[in-house]
Amino acid sequence: MSRPAKALIDLDALRFNCQLANRLSPQSKTMAVIKANAYGHGAVTVARTLKDLVPAFGVACIEEALELRESGIDNPIHLLEGAFSTDEISIAARENFSLSVVSEEQKQALLRARLDGPVKVWLIVDTGMHRLGLQPDQLAASFNTLSSCAHVAKDIVVATHFACADELDNDFTREQQQRLLRGLTAEMVSTTALSFANSAGLLGWPSTRATWNRPGIMLFGSSPFSVPHPLADQLRPVMRLKSAVIALREIPAGETVGYAATWAAKRTSRIATVAIGYGDGYPLQAPSGTPVLINGQRCPTVGRVSMDMMMVDVTDLQDQVAIGDEVVLWGQGVSVNEVADSAGTISYELLTRMPKRTPREYING
Ligand SMILES: *Cc1c(COP(=O)(O)O)cnc(C)c1O
Repeated sequence: MSRPAKALIDLDALRFNCQLANRLSPQSKTMAVIKANAYGHGAVTVARTLKDLVPAFGVACIEEALELRESGIDNPIHLLEGAFSTDEISIAARENFSLSVVSEEQKQALLRARLDGPVKVWLIVDTGMHRLGLQPDQLAASFNTLSSCAHVAKDIVVATHFACADELDNDFTREQQQRLLRGLTAEMVSTTALSFANSAGLLGWPSTRATWNRPGIMLFGSSPFSVPHPLADQLRPVMRLKSAVIALREIPAGETVGYAATWAAKRTSRIATVAIGYGDGYPLQAPSGTPVLINGQRCPTVGRVSMDMMMVDVTDLQDQVAIGDEVVLWGQGVSVNEVADSAGTISYELLTRMPKRTPREYING
């Protein structure tokens, strides 16, 4: 038997979540955002699974886009941060990668480029995130300049990104949308393709659904919200991080568990050792008491997470646990959001930093 630490990836759940994104906004086109190795799930397999469900993919950089092309994915691919060099503009035109234009400098580089064919462009507007984008008062002029450039395709998309869409009572999302809309000319209002929504926008802010939506995290079944939400709660977790019990022992009250002896038994306790640790993507910061599932029952972790192992208090399972039993670190029954919250981080981080060491096993392909 091989080491049991694995990330099981349920491709049926992935398709289900993507179809939910499509269904929520049937007039829109879904750009499936699969940057950072599809949030740790394996970009090529994820793209192969979704390629007939979405018209385009979004990634962070040209290396990610080329990996998909070289694996035979022929959908349009969008570079969310635009081109980092003139070379990349030429590659984008050749490979049918669309480019964000996120700054005056990128706009100038694009205008100066010598291209055989036209390149598709998304003009990014900084409506308050203050990370990337042109200012709203330059939008119309920049749009006109790019529109009249011979090597820029005519169907320019105007887009922005929300800072607070995961906070359902925060009006800043509406304000950001208004700032973009106020930057459009009357003609642009009726003719221009727009894009606002990430997962939180698509699920939580119906008025931000537009020509293109750009869901990422929801495709993988993790809610962007920290509170229950009727749509987000329909998502199915795609990754099940699991391993198995490899040792069991009983310790008397007063004994401690793990490095730095951070947890002490208050009673005679049965401790299960599980073959997974922070070297496999489980967060070191998860404190004692973070839940895991053993034989379908929630049990608390105890002591500090080691590189390759962690310990769980299984006293309350009595004799219903044995060496070899499966342990679910996150998936159905214990959400990655819950573990992330417990560890003081977000699901995005836990998923994207899942290391190579943890084998991905695909099911329901
Ligand atoms: C990452 C990203 C997304 C996807 O965001 P989620 O919160 O994962 O849905 C959408 N748009 C842009 C510009 C991004 O960088």
